Amino acid sequence: KMQGASGREEKILVLVRLRPLNEKEIASNEVADWECINDTTILYRNTLREGSTFPSAYSFDRVFRGDCSTREVYEEGAKEIALSVVSGINSSIFAYGQTSSGKTYTMNGITEYTVAEIFDYIHRHEERAFVVKFSAIEIYNEAVRDLLSADNTPLRLLDDPDRGTIVEKLTEETLRDWSHLKELLSICETQRQIGETSLNEKSSRSHQIIRLGIESSAREFLGKDKSTTLAASVSFVDLAGSERASQALSAGTRLKEGCHINRSLLTLGTVIRKLRLNPSPKGRHGHINYRDSKLTRILQPSLGGNARTAIICTLSPARAHVEQTRNTLLFACCAK
Ligand code: ADP
Ligand code: MG
Repeated sequence: KMQGASGREEKILVLVRLRPLNEKEIASNEVADWECINDTTILYRNTLREGSTFPSAYSFDRVFRGDCSTREVYEEGAKEIALSVVSGINSSIFAYGQTSSGKTYTMNGITEYTVAEIFDYIHRHEERAFVVKFSAIEIYNEAVRDLLSADNTPLRLLDDPDRGTIVEKLTEETLRDWSHLKELLSICETQRQIGETSLNEKSSRSHQIIRLGIESSAREFLGKDKSTTLAASVSFVDLAGSERASQALSAGTRLKEGCHINRSLLTLGTVIRKLRLNPSPKGRHGHINYRDSKLTRILQPSLGGNARTAIICTLSPARAHVEQTRNTLLFACCAK
């Protein structure tokens, strides 16, 4: 069982993944200033840097070195949380970090491994009947779009008395198997690029949420007893580049009218900090400001209560990125 730094089982797990220097960085003699010195600590090594006022060692539930595979990150950091969905527990896995730090690389792998294991689980539990639903949205400037639909009209959020916040008219596909997932993911990628000159530009400013909803019932009671039905969802959240939040903050334009790029990131940070301070499912969550952004509103059932969350903070080791790396670590420290 993955336990937090405090020794108890944590509802929000904070993980850090350092990527390796890429070919371009190596070719331009870029230097790696960060190193994971064990499974929980990452160290800033550039002690020669003058006027450095920030701490040099940061500890988290788990840190992953540049040569760790996504399989390792999944197995040791995300698997247990993501697979709790088959037992009826909601969960969410986030990737937070600056553009080009490895968010999409990490989330794509984790989504695929999770789906493969969910189908494996389903095949091993023939005494239950399962339905797996897939949906995908993008949140861009606080507008929600369906990534499985060619219609680009923003979708409305509705408050359903039973289900909480729902996205109106969102396409839900019944997922058949792992290769069906690959098909759907490529449709999402195409939808995401529409109207943009470069995918990277768009993905640095928008959040993507892939959601798997899983329902199961014991076959012997099928059609007889609703009480044996389990339903939950797992959300894979590829966040907008975190440089958007810090840029807006430093420019003093926070939450300015028409500037929604980072509202979701800032609200997410606040919500997570409050959940860490008061993680009890029975605690009063009335003061948690889920409704301040579309992202937190949509993810509320995957964050509060019994839900389990992992935040994977992705980092570039490059000296050129030190300020953004430090900002990401500060976010990660606040979340733990
Ligand atoms: P982001 O989504 O944060 O903008 P990407 O996931 O697109 O970043 O990663 C940027 C580039 O770095 C991609 O080409 C990706 O394949 C590569 N990359 C990211 N993380 C790793 C890693 N841990 N190991 C190897 N290559 C990586
Ligand atoms: Mg990306």
